Amino acid sequence: MKLTRRTFFKVSAIGATAVAGAAAPAAASSLAPAGEDSRAVLVDTTRCVGCRSCEAACAEANRLPDPAMAGDERVFEAKRETDQRAFTVVNRYTVAKDDVRFIKTQCMHCVDPACVSACPARALEKTASGPVTYTGSRCLGCRYCMLSCPFGVPKFEYDKPVPYVKKCTFCAERQAQGLPPACADACPTGALSFGTRAALIEEAKLRIYQNPDQYVHHVYGEREVGGTSWLYIGDVDLDRLGLPGGLGETPRPALASTALGAVPLILTLWPPILMGLHAITKRRNDVKDDVAAGEARHD
Ligand code: SF4
Ligand code: SF4
Repeated sequence: MKLTRRTFFKVSAIGATAVAGAAAPAAASSLAPAGEDSRAVLVDTTRCVGCRSCEAACAEANRLPDPAMAGDERVFEAKRETDQRAFTVVNRYTVAKDDVRFIKTQCMHCVDPACVSACPARALEKTASGPVTYTGSRCLGCRYCMLSCPFGVPKFEYDKPVPYVKKCTFCAERQAQGLPPACADACPTGALSFGTRAALIEEAKLRIYQNPDQYVHHVYGEREVGGTSWLYIGDVDLDRLGLPGGLGETPRPALASTALGAVPLILTLWPPILMGLHAITKRRNDVKDDVAAGEARHD
């Protein structure tokens, strides 16, 4: 069988789950342990007023288009998801008659990320300081990261001739310069606190302890899928504000490697899959060359 991009994705569809698991052992070995001073953001949803300054700051820092319907309250009428042009979005939820809450979402920068484990090319990496980074030049376009993410975060640039995966980077470059993520820096109400993950978990628990009647006694992200670098507290259950509930505490890579033990099928699928990945990389490079040649002709 000649392996084209199309046949590759047919093979992938048969064994997508197994494939994601199969990549786990290789990628897991590159996983940097989340350091003691790994960075995080605490989102206190009781303080978010839905101003969307975080969206605007994110767009500017990442050279993305201006946020949709900036300054227009009607943007809250439909729930929005993050995508390749908006790495963070703020949504409004009605929790009681005439009572609403706002919540900002983005990549959660999991402590043990499923996307990193699923990526066969190590395009996604977990850094010891917290951010899950993406190196486009390594990306094969297989989109296993999208299949594996429990929060549905990575998005693909389907509309681009040379597409890449896009998601929040936790402003890794800003952090390397000692700066907070642009969104946290811009938040005018203190809804977003940046610091070490350990200190922010303590801070979250302190706020709950000091205001037991105000807060739900749950720090979302402390344990979900093994922990995330974005932590949330609030005065209503956070699954009512769109954060997925029932994810369990086991990191997704651990689940995938367990499943792999029961899937010997992958041993027969792996060689054609590698050939498929090679075909994709070659195709991406061909398209890149075509685009570059086209641009040169127009100069
Ligand atoms: S939220 Fe999804 S994309 Fe972000 S680190 Fe976790 S698994 Fe990866
Ligand atoms: S900047 Fe702060 S208060 Fe404004 S929408 Fe974002 S998180 Fe909420």
